[in-house]
Amino acid sequence: MILHGGQIIGGTSSAEGDRTFVGINPATAQATTPPVHEATPAEIGRALGLADAAFDQYRRLDADRIAAFLEAAAQAWLDLGDRLLNQAHAETALPLARLTGERARMVNQARLFADLVREGSWRDARIDRADPGRQPLPKPDVRRLLEPIGPAVVFGASNFPLAISVGGSDTIAALAVGCPVVAKAHPAHPGTCELIGTAIATAAEATGVPAGVFSMLHGATHETGLALVRHPVTRVVSFTGSMAGGRALFDAAAARPDPIPVYAEMGSTNPVFVLPGAMAERGEQIAKDYVQSVTLGTGQFCTNPGLLLAVDGAATRAFLDAVGEHGRRVPPAAMLHRGISGSFAAGLGRLRATPGVRLVAESALAPDSGKSEGQCAIFVTNVDTLDAVTSLWDEVFGPVSLVVTCARLSDFERVARGMRGHLTASIHATPEDMSACGGLVTVLERKVGRIVFNGFPTGIEVCAAMHHGGPYPATTDVHFTSIGSASIDRYVRPVCYQNFPQQALPVELRDRNQRRIWRLVDGRPTKDDC
Ligand code: NAP
Repeated sequence: MILHGGQIIGGTSSAEGDRTFVGINPATAQATTPPVHEATPAEIGRALGLADAAFDQYRRLDADRIAAFLEAAAQAWLDLGDRLLNQAHAETALPLARLTGERARMVNQARLFADLVREGSWRDARIDRADPGRQPLPKPDVRRLLEPIGPAVVFGASNFPLAISVGGSDTIAALAVGCPVVAKAHPAHPGTCELIGTAIATAAEATGVPAGVFSMLHGATHETGLALVRHPVTRVVSFTGSMAGGRALFDAAAARPDPIPVYAEMGSTNPVFVLPGAMAERGEQIAKDYVQSVTLGTGQFCTNPGLLLAVDGAATRAFLDAVGEHGRRVPPAAMLHRGISGSFAAGLGRLRATPGVRLVAESALAPDSGKSEGQCAIFVTNVDTLDAVTSLWDEVFGPVSLVVTCARLSDFERVARGMRGHLTASIHATPEDMSACGGLVTVLERKVGRIVFNGFPTGIEVCAAMHHGGPYPATTDVHFTSIGSASIDRYVRPVCYQNFPQQALPVELRDRNQRRIWRLVDGRPTKDDC
């Protein structure tokens, strides 16, 4: 398939803009695409106009049709075969094995949501029947279910070019519940985005879904993204990336005459607490797993463990020696794009220059800056320095982490209390440790979205119980997850019907439970008619 470098708008390509850029291979600096055209205001308007026009028809399609559309998209991605993997590899420098795994996740996500749509209980139908004889006032008939919120703008993330980009979790969740999507391609992997977007548009056509349900636009300046957020048709925005980007989009949405939600996931430092018993019992293994987690995917995960707390002592010193050994063995690797490798180098420079912070582990091989490489770098400091230099909590995106030694165990809880919001926290502990440190979990429950026990936070399971979110600044809305089937909550809103005639109600709320979905009838979960 030859790339055209244009927008995909309602099933057709469009390249009206004069401003172009190209995809760049971060490892070789070679172009990976023909000139890619930035979307013009007219193209942006057309994509959102089509999305708006398609919305009512799309949300009323039967569940089987929407599920078939998602499954057809998944199959079309698989049918692209090595073409997709090679394009993504050229544009992100991620290894082919990792991209193969990520494609499986993208495909499985689409199939998971197709199942969810067919099953139907996601609509959270609730029925409270009337009681005309109730005293002192009659009780009305009240019924409620979740409806799609409207056209969604989804920003592709740079660090998951398949699973969290144009065809990733947010796009699929929004499409599953009936929201048209206008995806903003990430400028660092525009060719990959075009392949994925074309496959979605083809799947829409093949399954008889209105063409305006999916569009994909390019932009290498902030104008495209901001125009998408400010457009009156847009009802919801999702984003994964930097704090600066997430906040800019969130602020633009809040400044609209009609503010809309922006679900921005802006990363975090994901603190790891290693309790003394666990450190004494298996410090060597924890060191090995820690270095592996820090350097996985060249550290370019929002769940990278950027900070590890340990109580000072002989076991922790042995742990640091082991971290040094394992870190030396990690070869440098190309980062996702030159902007990211530049920010990584600047972040490392800040850590090296901070008094009281010392390097304990670094890749033995020097990184090749011409290939945009990042190396493993793990630093150590003490809790007094962490207290004094709060910027040590800032995320440095890449294979870097900071070990913080504490004088006493009670420092863990104190440090946790002062923390801002993070996506995750991890605790390594023995049963005895846990009884000595039960308060830590209580504090962390208020600070993070996911708490990992005796493990590391990288590697997110895509499932119904997953929560990938957390208090600000990890995300702009603590309620929602971007991964797992609960992510549909970003794209729905409740609508309540009072005293409605049966035939005017959505089928899911009628007395006869035609779809046999789970419903809450007079406070009781049931699949029965009422
Ligand atoms: P980014 O700079 O935040 O860009 C992501 C998207 O947001 C791009 O499509 C970009 O579009 C748009 N954007 C960024 N700033 C904007 C602004 N001020 N106004 C409007 N749109 C804006 O992320 P990135 O390029 O992927 O990586 C840069 C840094 O983000 C990394 O070094 C890392 O710190 C962080 N990051 C975090 C995660 C995470 O999972 N938390 C993931 C990836 C990156 P345009 O540039 O075309 O406008």
